[in-house]
Amino acid sequence: MHETSPTRPSRGSPSENRSGGAPSEHCLVPLSGWGRSTVVWARERSGEDLEQVTRDVVLCRGLGRSYGDAALPAREGEAIASTIRANRLLAFDPDAGVLRAEAGFSIHELVRFFLPRGWFAPVSPGTQFVTLGGAIAADVHGKAHHQQGCFGRHLRKLRMRVGDGSIVECSRDQHPELFRATQGGMGLTGHILDAEFQLERLPSPWIEQEVEICPDLHTLMGRLREAGDEWPFTVSWVDGFARGRNFGRGVVVKGRWARAEDAPPTPPPERFRPAVPFEMPSGLLNESTGRLFYEFYYRMQRRGRRVVHPAPFFYPLDSIRHWNRLYGSRGFTQYQCVLPEGDDIAGAQQIFEQLQREHAIPFLAVVKDFGAEGEGMLSFPRSGLTLALDIPIDRDRTQVIVDQLNERVIAHGGRIYLAKDAFTREVHFRAMEPRLADWTRVREKWDPEHRIRSALAVRLLGDEA
Ligand SMILES: Cc1cc2nc3c(=O)[nH]c(=O)nc-3n(C[C@H](O)[C@H](O)[C@H](O)COP(=O)(O)OP(=O)(O)OC[C@H]3O[C@@H](n4cnc5c(N)ncnc54)[C@H](O)[C@@H]3O)c2cc1C
Repeated sequence: MHETSPTRPSRGSPSENRSGGAPSEHCLVPLSGWGRSTVVWARERSGEDLEQVTRDVVLCRGLGRSYGDAALPAREGEAIASTIRANRLLAFDPDAGVLRAEAGFSIHELVRFFLPRGWFAPVSPGTQFVTLGGAIAADVHGKAHHQQGCFGRHLRKLRMRVGDGSIVECSRDQHPELFRATQGGMGLTGHILDAEFQLERLPSPWIEQEVEICPDLHTLMGRLREAGDEWPFTVSWVDGFARGRNFGRGVVVKGRWARAEDAPPTPPPERFRPAVPFEMPSGLLNESTGRLFYEFYYRMQRRGRRVVHPAPFFYPLDSIRHWNRLYGSRGFTQYQCVLPEGDDIAGAQQIFEQLQREHAIPFLAVVKDFGAEGEGMLSFPRSGLTLALDIPIDRDRTQVIVDQLNERVIAHGGRIYLAKDAFTREVHFRAMEPRLADWTRVREKWDPEHRIRSALAVRLLGDEA
């Protein structure tokens, strides 16, 4: 591994990745998740030296792309560390493709710096505005989960500040339980300072994409599964509004890195990303506008195979900055669950039917098949189908709907994704997580006083408020 002098590869827009400048000490700021449903005032400390910044804070926060309360403090006014100014590359081995970077280094920065040089993140979620610390804490998955697993599979080493304030290194050989509990542990096992992980070598920086249009849910799920045998990247988008014989119609998108001889000679250019300038009225996204949008979306799809820019392929929602403002001041929640292989297709159908009955139709409905469960003790994915459903918040009904969905998921032996969740109750979470006892044992060993905690830990784990 070549130790490089620490490098700052690139900068995102200020709201996406603030970088450089003087360290800030404990500014009182309003924080929320990406779903914008809850606001908590916290004392936020940021700076370039994470060893300093993480001293005596209750939690780390990256780019705030978790939807609910995972990156929010348990109490108003508690001190949290923002990692986004600690975004240096620390070392890179160009022969092996092994990278060590600070926890605030983002996938966006990784893509800008490494894609033109022939490397990419081993696993990339549906947005590139995610820090390394956030990717590990949620053990993120991407379109290649059926082949590549989660981010944690490609992780080699972590340096962390644990509950008693000391700094430890962990890996598969050193404190392996802490290493496994941190992947998917939502920041509750310690503050990640830096991490070493494996990048993927590319034949070209362009994507060969194939789009297939499917007339109903069963065709779509079947085509999605079959596509996974041939294609490393697969995902599907479902029209939750369609009824009758079109119920569950949608689009299956498949991709692989293009061969050098099929790709354009130059690297993909930066793309202009317009922004939603202000918060839209809350009722704007309703059943009528949703139906119109999907009719348009469905008809606009270009089926067939072509070479495309990797950004809209991996991160279609990043094309519009602040798109979460479209949901208005009430915000939205993303309900993401996985239904284990077996009766997962029937379970998915029941969920879409239930949401139509309740008039809580998701504006965005993504369905993806997962590969095997990984080593992260609380990581979300397991073999089966995952549904990610964006639902605008209705003060009176959202809790009831999430409760009903959770009961259905428990009956199917599935579970929910903590990085997206905002409404699940502790009793439901415990019923869907037989792994919780093992993970809790590791947390108790490293942080018996729960000095590291979050609003999510109060809601789901019974931490003191
Ligand atoms: C449009 C969109 C698409 C998405 N698509 C996917 C997807 O396809 N697959 C997927 O898996 N996820 C997806 N996500 C979720 C996202 O990848 C995760 O929520 C991720 O954790 C966000 O990273 P962040 O840097 O914004 O972390 P934050 O949201 O700031 O924090 C998330 C969690 O990480 C913890 N954390 C952050 N930094 C550290 C650190 N240094 N040490 C310890 N803990 C830390 C926080 O305490 C918190 O619990 C998507 C999100 C959006 C908005």
